[in-house]
Amino acid sequence: MYIQEISIDIKTEVDKDELVDEFGLLMSFYRGNGQTQGRIESQYIENNKIIWLPYTLEKRSLAKQLNNFYVNRQSKKLEDLCNSKLKFKTVGKSYDSCKASCECEKSAFYILITNYITIESPITCGSCYKSVPLYKLPIFYDFGYMPILSWETNYISCDSLQMNGEVGERWALNQMQKINSQLSKQGLEICRKIEDLTSIPTFYYLHNYRKFKGDQLTTPCPSCQKKWDLKTQLHDFYDFKCEKCKIVSTISPNS
Ligand SMILES: [Zn+2]
Ligand SMILES: [Zn+2]
Repeated sequence: MYIQEISIDIKTEVDKDELVDEFGLLMSFYRGNGQTQGRIESQYIENNKIIWLPYTLEKRSLAKQLNNFYVNRQSKKLEDLCNSKLKFKTVGKSYDSCKASCECEKSAFYILITNYITIESPITCGSCYKSVPLYKLPIFYDFGYMPILSWETNYISCDSLQMNGEVGERWALNQMQKINSQLSKQGLEICRKIEDLTSIPTFYYLHNYRKFKGDQLTTPCPSCQKKWDLKTQLHDFYDFKCEKCKIVSTISPNS
């Protein structure tokens, strides 16, 4: 993960609050286009300069050729408001152990997965097990990827509820581990659409909290009821994979 600096010199009398709002909008357009990660960036105004520090998966994530219509339109608006040009600089990498993102020419398959703490892309590559920047996928909807990010936010909300454990824990768990929950349905629809757009099989990660009795570690696929346990763990993480229903899961750490 990279930390980037986007700044602009303010050479007009534009209202600073308005400018912060407009800059915030630019950041949300970058996020909707899969160019930045996470939901909030550090930001500050120094003298007559406004600075934002977003995370990106690749060093080149903010390259102009990756911009969509909304990012370009908002960049132009900001540059007109400030009468100067946006400046870009890579500040550094976020931390040493952070994995690089997927560079596969063609992934064998994708997995839709996230959790309450990550700011990586919700798409993992099945070949290299690294995060896939969303802009590498064909446009999903309205110049960007908002429906995928909306599922991501819903999943993170449910995962946060189950981690906190005081409010709606059981409801949230059911959303995450039942194949026919609203959350799973939303995720599975996204998987089918990514598959249509890319011709790459796309699996949905189904959370598993169930405890197993004794040494009974297997359970049938919750959708087709067929055997789906893997002989060897996939990417040292996944224990279950149904090729027919395109879902993956893990043995519960609670067992
Ligand atoms: Zn890959
Ligand atoms: Zn199945």
